Amino acid sequence: MLHPLVPPVLAWFDTAARDLPWRAADRTPWGVLVSEVMLQQTPVARVEPLWRRWMMRWPTPADLAEESTAEVLRAWDRLGYPRRALRLQECARAVVERHDGELPRTEAELLALPGVGTYTAAAVMAFAHGRRAVVVDTNVRRVLSRAIAGDALPPPSLTRGELRDAATLVPDDDGTASRWSAAVMELGALVCTARSPRCDACPVAEQCAWRRAGRPPDALAPVRRRQAWHGTDRQVRGRIMAELRAADHPVPAEVLLAAVPGDETQRRRCLAGLLADGLVAALEPLRRPSAGAADAEDADDDAAVRDDAVLYGLPR
Ligand code: SF4
Repeated sequence: MLHPLVPPVLAWFDTAARDLPWRAADRTPWGVLVSEVMLQQTPVARVEPLWRRWMMRWPTPADLAEESTAEVLRAWDRLGYPRRALRLQECARAVVERHDGELPRTEAELLALPGVGTYTAAAVMAFAHGRRAVVVDTNVRRVLSRAIAGDALPPPSLTRGELRDAATLVPDDDGTASRWSAAVMELGALVCTARSPRCDACPVAEQCAWRRAGRPPDALAPVRRRQAWHGTDRQVRGRIMAELRAADHPVPAEVLLAAVPGDETQRRRCLAGLLADGLVAALEPLRRPSAGAADAEDADDDAAVRDDAVLYGLPR
């Protein structure tokens, strides 16, 4: 028996679903996985054109697996969180090595792939393979926290209670379950939005606990962290990556660091972090000083010289 929220949301989805390429009849499981990785921290409007270019260029895991990492990072462009691109290529290589180039069809096998977590595995099961899965992203959490729990917004981190509530709503049969997962996610993206929910246009307005309670304010507002962007390491890292994507040759450290915001300590910290993450590579051998490395003072100077003598680029 279906939960009372399910039928109206499914009926609404029949008429309101966006025509997105990763939902098309000719979609591939790999295309669905790529879309899910891209959509994790980036809105649909920015993902869609890049996804189309990406799938034209690398339609299968084997295509992406064979590409140079530098090209993959260039193609990721300004989507943000570029570690996702590295993980996606590692995933493609694992699919080729372990599964003969075909995305596996079980959740356990998907979860064993690099960069594939609980959400992504469930989403691929539902949207690529049409199977019953508990797919819980931020949109779903927001709809359920309002409609069922009566809260303005979900807790800062996913709780077991939320997962339990979400699981009880998923219909039993594969086809309806996969459609429900897409529909409730779409409702959160288009109607039950974070800042301006359009309750007047909502198919479950009559059942919604938060609306019936008079839309009380978010009780957790004081403890929620707002992610700033300007001046953060994320911004500086993004600028370093943009400089290297645009460069057609290795870039000296002093040129690279002079082109990005932040103080010297922050810029060098961010560059070191990108090197450690494998997103940037030191492409030239360190230039060894010819003399003066004998004592400690000279050794300190040498460290600075060596650092600035390195040419950086995207990993090859
Ligand atoms: S009635 Fe409003 S708050 Fe409740 S689920 Fe619909 S859009 Fe969200």
